[in-house]
Amino acid sequence: MAHSKDTTIAFAFDIDGVLMKGVKPIPGARETIQKLQDLKIPFIFLTNGGGLTEEAHVAKLGQRLDLTFDKRLFVQSHTPYHDRVAEYADKTVLVLGGHGQQIRDLAHAYGFNKVVTPSDFFQEFEHIHPFPEMTRAYHLEHGRRHKAPLRDTKIAAIFVWSSPRDWMLDMQLVIDLLLSRGGYMGTRSSKNGDASLPNYGFQQDDQPKLFFCNPDFEWATQHEQPRFAQGAFREALCGLWAHATRNKAKMQYSVVGKPTEATYIYAEGTLRDYHSATHGTGSDNDNPERRIGRVYMIGDNPESDIVGANSYESRCGFEWRSVLVETGVHVAGTVPIHTPNHTVRDVREAVEWALAGGECGSNVNGEGEDREDGATDGSRSSVNGDVSGRSSSSNLSAVGTSDTSNVSD
Ligand SMILES: [Mg+2]
Repeated sequence: MAHSKDTTIAFAFDIDGVLMKGVKPIPGARETIQKLQDLKIPFIFLTNGGGLTEEAHVAKLGQRLDLTFDKRLFVQSHTPYHDRVAEYADKTVLVLGGHGQQIRDLAHAYGFNKVVTPSDFFQEFEHIHPFPEMTRAYHLEHGRRHKAPLRDTKIAAIFVWSSPRDWMLDMQLVIDLLLSRGGYMGTRSSKNGDASLPNYGFQQDDQPKLFFCNPDFEWATQHEQPRFAQGAFREALCGLWAHATRNKAKMQYSVVGKPTEATYIYAEGTLRDYHSATHGTGSDNDNPERRIGRVYMIGDNPESDIVGANSYESRCGFEWRSVLVETGVHVAGTVPIHTPNHTVRDVREAVEWALAGGECGSNVNGEGEDREDGATDGSRSSVNGDVSGRSSSSNLSAVGTSDTSNVSD
């Protein structure tokens, strides 16, 4: 569907570096979101953050912005893990990230019934951590003993939910399990290194599946420079894996979160469903006046928000456009690695520009542009040096995983 006068625009907002900097709202963010609420312009939050349920996270955001939101508006890094519950509900899964019981509780809330954490392994395996002196007290406090010893428990999957805290232990555990016989800690597969098998025999012995949910290498906090995010943990793990396998084998895993296609599909469905539920119209409803035509992705990270929106081919006929702000990872005056459709100073400017018609300079209903091919206005695009504003999908694959077939898994 092309953007036209018969459609409404919508927004997908990244949070860190767009609406928030650490725990502090970015100036203008609150007023901007409230304006959209007043105008009944549809929007969702689309973040690579996580660590809480969608309900708890949107409540926290609302508290910080002094606004009220519906939990259905919130798509975070691990929201697509809901789709894995049916397969792993009654199998034992190892969860990584967060602190205390946070991720264990979160996994249970999603519907995973048999959940173990690195601290549980620490409790049972006395010497599993080679250098425990800095984190022993933490793991002993938060680890749990299970009825069935973990030594005799098959780990069916490893889910990374948010940034791991004790990288030393977590990396050791993941490598151990990926090299194990069938997902049993303390074992090694005899197939490892067998050149006659696919992937030199690595991950060919029913080891656990490995899932990541945030490809971001870094994120904007209140520190002067961006800090490591979950993607940095994954990169470090890939480095260890390469050494452990003598560079013979790729580490096989799946990843969701921006910029993967899986997350944009999920986000688009969320936006469509919420809009249908609250306005009685969606992408294919019979009231064209409130149908969503164009979605503006407002983000601060070219390698996440921008390439994701640029690369995504809508399943709902929406036209995704990317707008880069200068209040987070991207620094004003530098050239982003992925070219957005538009660059602005902050979220307030982004929304006002979009409400004024975006590239075509028309009003909120899109009057002034009614091109059925959905093509962009060339004058604005040429400023950015990218007439189409779209990146090749190969960029997405390169970011997503070492096993590109799993990008949209
Ligand atoms: Mg961000």
